[in-house]
Amino acid sequence: MATIFTRIAKGEIPSYKVAENDEFYAFLDINPLAKGHTLVIPKNTEEDYIFNLDDPTYHGLCAFAKKVAAAIKEAVPCKRVGVAVLGLEVPHTHIHLVPLQTEGDMDFRKEKLSLSQEEFSAIAESINKAFESGK
Ligand code: 5GP
Repeated sequence: MATIFTRIAKGEIPSYKVAENDEFYAFLDINPLAKGHTLVIPKNTEEDYIFNLDDPTYHGLCAFAKKVAAAIKEAVPCKRVGVAVLGLEVPHTHIHLVPLQTEGDMDFRKEKLSLSQEEFSAIAESINKAFESGK
């Protein structure tokens, strides 16, 4: 059975898309640590553990996440964009990109933000715009 993230990348489950190419998909985390918290996934493998990816996919994922992070930095006021890989909940490799003001913004145990559909849509749109213009 396909992972929830494969189903998201295929559009079978809705998501707030931030960026996409043939190999990778970026979308807003539904339980964000901060406005603009984004997940970046490979579309053509469901490998669970990032360090089990083949080298081209691993390097491609990191390069794509770098471009998405630049777009987040442009669209969301923050000091920098933090990077984390946990994968304890969803068994499909994903990179977390989190806009940071303080170290505490990267604390995955803290209470998540509750955003409206309109807020999610507006954030995704502004990051996507920055991504497209930076291509
Ligand atoms: P992890 O596997 O890295 O420990 O956590 C999985 C992350 O995926 C969590 O931050 C969680 O909020 C997010 N997540 C889980 N299910 C969904 C979903 O259906 N849609 C979106 N957009 N994010 C999800």
